[in-house]
Amino acid sequence: MNRRTFLFGGTIAGTVLSLHYLNQLSPDPTLQDMATPHEFEVTKPEAEWKETLTPEQFYVLRKHGTERAGTSPLNKEYGQGKYACAGCGLPLFTSDTKFDSGTGWPSFFAPIADAVETTTDRSLFMTRTEVHCRRCGGHLGHVFKDGPKPTGDRFCMNGVSLTFIPG
Ligand code: FE
Repeated sequence: MNRRTFLFGGTIAGTVLSLHYLNQLSPDPTLQDMATPHEFEVTKPEAEWKETLTPEQFYVLRKHGTERAGTSPLNKEYGQGKYACAGCGLPLFTSDTKFDSGTGWPSFFAPIADAVETTTDRSLFMTRTEVHCRRCGGHLGHVFKDGPKPTGDRFCMNGVSLTFIPG
């Protein structure tokens, strides 16, 4: 192998590695337009997430799944407390912002500051704003602009991705 072939090979390998790295940063191919891609604070190989999460939690948090409407007990939970990420335990919402949206999914008009991030989700022939945990990247649901005052936002969450902590 001469020097030129060596350099060319290195460039190809570097490009492949970079693409692989970028791919790792984005949890889903439809979500690659995240404004500032970054590593999440909590990361685990898929096998480890499978060990710590129930199959339903894994499907929603790690595979951008959606639970069937009306199936989460948290949909009708109106006690005082916090709603934490079922993946990493970060508190995401408080009961003060929860409201009955009538959708069958736990809904909030605002998250706790610096708890969630959003990306544009173009899956299922729609453009929606996906919401995920700031710390582990776990998929939580979507946010829509038809919520109540004071924000007008409706954070439509999968109950399975949340853990209710009374108090
Ligand atoms: Fe999390």
